[in-house]
Amino acid sequence: MNTKYIFVTGGVVSSLGKGIISSSLACLLKARGYRVTIQKFDPYINIDPGTLNPYEHGECYVTEDGHEADLDLGHYERFTNVRTSRANNITTGRVYQSVIDKERRGDYLGKTVQIIPHITDEIKRNVKLLGNTGHYDFVITEIGGVVGDIESLPFLEAVRQLRWELGSDACCVHLTYVPYLGAAKELKTKPTQHSVKQLQQLGIQPDVLVLRTEHDIPQDMRAKIAQFCNVAPDAVVQSADAPTIYEVPMRMHRQGLDNIVLRCCGLSAGAQDPDLEAWHTFLEKLGSPQGEVRIGLVGKYVELQDAYKSINESLFIAATYCDRKLVLTSVHSEQLNDANAAEKLSGFDGVIIAPGFGTRGIDGKFAALKWCRENDVPTFGICLGMQCMVIEFARNVLGLTNANSREMDQLTPHPVIDLMDEQKSITNLGGTMRLGAYDCSLADGSLARKAYDGATQISERHRHRFEFNSAYREAFENAGMRCSGLNPQTGLVEIVELPGKRWYLGTQFHPEYSTTVERPNPIFLDFIRAAIAYGNEK
Ligand code: GLN
Repeated sequence: MNTKYIFVTGGVVSSLGKGIISSSLACLLKARGYRVTIQKFDPYINIDPGTLNPYEHGECYVTEDGHEADLDLGHYERFTNVRTSRANNITTGRVYQSVIDKERRGDYLGKTVQIIPHITDEIKRNVKLLGNTGHYDFVITEIGGVVGDIESLPFLEAVRQLRWELGSDACCVHLTYVPYLGAAKELKTKPTQHSVKQLQQLGIQPDVLVLRTEHDIPQDMRAKIAQFCNVAPDAVVQSADAPTIYEVPMRMHRQGLDNIVLRCCGLSAGAQDPDLEAWHTFLEKLGSPQGEVRIGLVGKYVELQDAYKSINESLFIAATYCDRKLVLTSVHSEQLNDANAAEKLSGFDGVIIAPGFGTRGIDGKFAALKWCRENDVPTFGICLGMQCMVIEFARNVLGLTNANSREMDQLTPHPVIDLMDEQKSITNLGGTMRLGAYDCSLADGSLARKAYDGATQISERHRHRFEFNSAYREAFENAGMRCSGLNPQTGLVEIVELPGKRWYLGTQFHPEYSTTVERPNPIFLDFIRAAIAYGNEK
């Protein structure tokens, strides 16, 4: 079969959840046996979101091949259990950079380089890149932003051209908003009509409309929208607010979204239902928890709900697997100190110390760790969180009073966390950290080895510049902090743990990126299990 291309656009307002709809559709197609991938085009000029702070754009997700990506790729992986790569997230900046590089090389010699055709051709090339590998039956392309934005125009023009070139191998899904006016007690379809009209003016006729709404949209209203927008009546589906995003695939399936898309691509759905067994089991567990597990997340971006997205989702999925309702509370690291740590943290069954950059809020993380270590609370440090575990231990157990990371204090006498030589000469900040998946061998008898079900070697994703300084390793191990995970090639420390404690472990890598609904990350699972056990004991 030819690769089919599905384009997902959005109208009226942003934040409607195009990523969740794309992921849900991919999940359903995959459950029907198709090979599916999803990519996202972001209309901003940054080459990637790696240089954006979490307040601007939420979490930065990292692919196995070391690309700093939009957080929607996290949803794609969690919903489909299919790995993404650099090719799955393209920005305007990357498209222009590639075209300008070609211009300098002389690839367009003699020609005026223009948005149409050169930028649009580059966009089209990127859309087809994944399809041309032969690995996928469906490539779903989510176009970031809202129809009508100046920034999205070249992407939409590329979609128009591809649609025309690909015929029935392409399908356009448009996500819009149907607001409810409380005073009039009415749902309003006009914004949807306008948004579709705008798409049509750009030469794109959507095949499917997904209507985001807070209230059920009656059948006659959907029929009216279909008629005004030139869409088949059954191809207007609603996406009402769901208690959890993980219900959306089922909801979409119940309304036949997968069938409609298959039909639009000239394929028959057949009599077979998609195999959603794992999802059914997950949702059943979600609906019938046997109690709660209370986790505190200590970080500095806690005001923004998307800043620690993959951590939140990993905890949620792991807690669901353990038949517990996750009660996640954020604790602002800037508001934590030795005097109030007990008051702020004693209500939790487990504490996570978040990743991050820079000195702001760092003392709060040390205070939290000291209290958690001394009170033997299950504690999980991720990346900067792990580095803080090392620093706190150096200061309070090894007695190296001014121990620090070179990131926080250039002149520290004890740089227990430091830059490796290859990082020292780097001047550009974009895309130059240790990024992507690296191997890690797990020590015999360690908590880490147990968490990973006895595996001797694992691979997890990284996003950091600083490392555990191996010159101090012996001192740490003699004092009881075990370096239980090492990079087999470089010997770099990947995991530290305190064997005498209930569960005290830090990872230099980010295990949260590899959780999916079908396969929660083992460290998160083990941490949640330890937290539940501790909660029962308390
Ligand atoms: N700032 C630290 C480093 O660069 C940790 C990064 C992180 O937590 N992702 O090494």
